[in-house]
Amino acid sequence: MIYKRSSALFAAAQKVIPGGVNSPVRAFKAVGGDPIFVKEAKGAYLYDEDGNRLIDYINSWGPMILGHAHPPVVNAVVEKAKKGTSFGMPTEIETQIAELAVSMVPNIDKIRFVNSGTEACMSAVRLARGYTQKDKIIKFAGCYHGHSDSFLIQAGSGAVTFGSPNSPGVTKGTAQDTLLARYNDLDHVERIITSNKGEIACIIIEPVAGNMGCIPPVKGFLEGLRALCDEHDVLLIFDEVMTGFRLARGGVQELLGVDADIVTFGKVIGGGLPVGAFAAREEIMNHLAPLGPVYQAGTLSGNPLAMAAGLAMLTELNNNQGIFTSLADKTEYLHTGIAKALKENNITHTINRLGSMISVHFDAGAVVDFDTAANGNNETFKKFFHGMLDNGIYIAPSAFETWFITEALTYEDLDETIAAVQKVAKTL
Ligand SMILES: *Cc1c(COP(=O)(O)O)cnc(C)c1O
Repeated sequence: MIYKRSSALFAAAQKVIPGGVNSPVRAFKAVGGDPIFVKEAKGAYLYDEDGNRLIDYINSWGPMILGHAHPPVVNAVVEKAKKGTSFGMPTEIETQIAELAVSMVPNIDKIRFVNSGTEACMSAVRLARGYTQKDKIIKFAGCYHGHSDSFLIQAGSGAVTFGSPNSPGVTKGTAQDTLLARYNDLDHVERIITSNKGEIACIIIEPVAGNMGCIPPVKGFLEGLRALCDEHDVLLIFDEVMTGFRLARGGVQELLGVDADIVTFGKVIGGGLPVGAFAAREEIMNHLAPLGPVYQAGTLSGNPLAMAAGLAMLTELNNNQGIFTSLADKTEYLHTGIAKALKENNITHTINRLGSMISVHFDAGAVVDFDTAANGNNETFKKFFHGMLDNGIYIAPSAFETWFITEALTYEDLDETIAAVQKVAKTL
């Protein structure tokens, strides 16, 4: 395929935007080469600036669960835009989407809307700290909760007690309040809690991890976290920015039957517009301003266009609950096809999958946490990525990312993808 215009656009972008992108993963650093500039998208397909058609497995990193430019969502936004795009005053649609979200998700009474997943997680942690009057938080290596300071902490030796900043600009003070645990390792979490007795406000986790490939929780892990939190007066935050309204109508709480104290959302809840949200039981949410002392605000929070897109999206998902099974079926079909193609070509691989999330790892063995995800062979992944791209298939440009299946994908699209894997596998 030819990417002349994309490369020219990238060169121009780099002069005025750091790295030419407004979010780093878009720059293709992990796989090499110039990123592709998209012109438009419809259903399961992207059309780039050079006129190539690509089958899309990123789907804006999750939001486009029903495909690009889904008519009910587009129409809702267009109609809303005609009536004014922002007021900084309350609107009825905010209550409508809040009522719907609260009715779909277990265990939450109230929800507040913000503009991104980052903001949702940042606010959820502040709320947890304000509610418990404790400072420290536990996060898991390899889990992503947005780019706010408390979350940009990576695992390293000695990290059990004191996190070390992994981005310049995060202060040591902030890092010290973030304790790192190993995903799927309950004993590790328990040790951290006991050595920081009475100091931990919350545990924040992707209940099905999606930012180190797709890593489902092992049996008993989430249940164990719930029990530890109850025992030690710690709030459990499920970051469902990726999994919410994707793995089930009520997210992982419903799918796996474990209750969280605070839940965060993003991606699907905005239908492709900038939306995040956090939600909890009434007694916790009532600690937020203006009812309570924990401050949180936003000029564009609950923006009418964003709410219209989100409401249209959630309504579609709520009215067609067969969608989650259909997505899981398609993902399983893809999994089986890819596994077969790789096996026939003797490519050592691991495929992780849950619902409509799937990731392919090369030479990694079992992938259950950040360290085992990092065992993957990046050189093979790079070749695989570019091979797939040459065959018109757009997967995430990093071995640490999950692929997102959209309902717009047909079985013909999946067959085309599997055929591409078959071809590319011969070159790995
Ligand atoms: C994408 C993501 C975020 C951050 O959301 P943004 O809208 O990019 O700020 C937080 N948590 C998880 C689990 C995510 O996948």
